[in-house]
Amino acid sequence: MAGVTLGDACAKGRGIIKVEVHMIGNVVLLYRGILIAILFACMIPFTGCSGQTAKAKQINVIFRFDDYSAKSSMDTELKIIDAFRKNKVPVTFAVIPFVCAGSEHDPSPQNSLPLTPTKGNILKAALKSGILDVALHGYAHQIVSVREMNEFSGLDYGVQAKKLAEGKKFLEALIDAPVTTFVPPWNAYDLNTLRVLEDLGFSTLSASKAGKAEKTTTLNFLPATCELPQLRNAIGAARNSSDTQPVIVVVFHEYDFREFDKKHGKITYQEFSDLLRGLRSTEDVRLLSIGQATGMINDLTVSRFLLNRSIHTALNLLPSFLVKVYDSRYTDRDHGYSWLCAGLFYVTIILLVALVSFAAGRFMFPRSAFLMNVGIYGSIPLLVTVLVYVFHDLDVTIGRAMIGALIVGISVGTWLCIPSLAKKTHPRKTGPGDENRA
Ligand SMILES: [Zn+2]
Repeated sequence: MAGVTLGDACAKGRGIIKVEVHMIGNVVLLYRGILIAILFACMIPFTGCSGQTAKAKQINVIFRFDDYSAKSSMDTELKIIDAFRKNKVPVTFAVIPFVCAGSEHDPSPQNSLPLTPTKGNILKAALKSGILDVALHGYAHQIVSVREMNEFSGLDYGVQAKKLAEGKKFLEALIDAPVTTFVPPWNAYDLNTLRVLEDLGFSTLSASKAGKAEKTTTLNFLPATCELPQLRNAIGAARNSSDTQPVIVVVFHEYDFREFDKKHGKITYQEFSDLLRGLRSTEDVRLLSIGQATGMINDLTVSRFLLNRSIHTALNLLPSFLVKVYDSRYTDRDHGYSWLCAGLFYVTIILLVALVSFAAGRFMFPRSAFLMNVGIYGSIPLLVTVLVYVFHDLDVTIGRAMIGALIVGISVGTWLCIPSLAKKTHPRKTGPGDENRA
């Protein structure tokens, strides 16, 4: 059987390239057609061709003010409460019962500062007027290890239970009302935290969109979805969403106010009050506290949370400019579109890289047996190594996914290129009658 070695292919390389210019041109045209079709398909979810239209519905907006404690600025907090009271808008305050006296980023033992009766009375009065409810925000708001910003995650059930029970009891006594919502500091918690919360009678967790959860948990989930600067866009996205009960939880702190932090503050008290007034008069916006939301929104279950977390994972795999386009069209309930967008994005990257790799191989391999051997024998171990790196845990980042797509694309291009070169370099098989015809 006539065969061609790699050396033969190299020796004949220059002649082959000339003969195959036309063939490569055709292949390039074919790939260009395929890529245009895929890119067009990729854009469909971003262009609004899905047939979704803005519908009349209520967009639930919840304000969550974090870090009320013995150390926080009473002047700022009174101004904030006043803005909510004046505009008749409810708010949830996430309160630290025993804030650490020193730096929250220092895990070594520190004195704690219990919430003062004065601060307790401010909460109590606002609670009584119906514009505020109180959530427990950790215990001391102090990290337990320098490795991560976290006060609970990784600790034993018993240690977490002690902290949460003490914090809950202290706060409830101070404000003379039950506390059933937990907001973990830095939104960090683990499955033990969820079990403790259920056992202690908490009804609701408000952390982040990426947190952990078991399907069996009975807690309500109201994760933070944006900060003050993103609120307008979030409402726009909620209007375009297919979700019939969109929920926006906007988290803010004292340092968001220019009067508190001239350099980093984003809004003045007056602008904030105007924002509340504007929302109050917006027909399709319903303003709730966390406590009110748990009674008025049908589905705050773990199933909804897990669905939204999956979408969050898909969108985290897209570059930010595509996420911005996506956010302007869809919100959390569009699960299929988020994964479709992520999938099409990476298929496009793989095909583009494969095309470049294919063309590069067609040019270089006939000129270098070494490069061809690297392509044949090196690509599979490289691919396996990179895929193990990309998927070594389930927390795949966009950087890891891009590296994976790049190597898959190079491998695919190389594998398509080598057989086609070998085929082209085979001499035509001689048939029995060929001698007579010659
Ligand atoms: Zn906090």
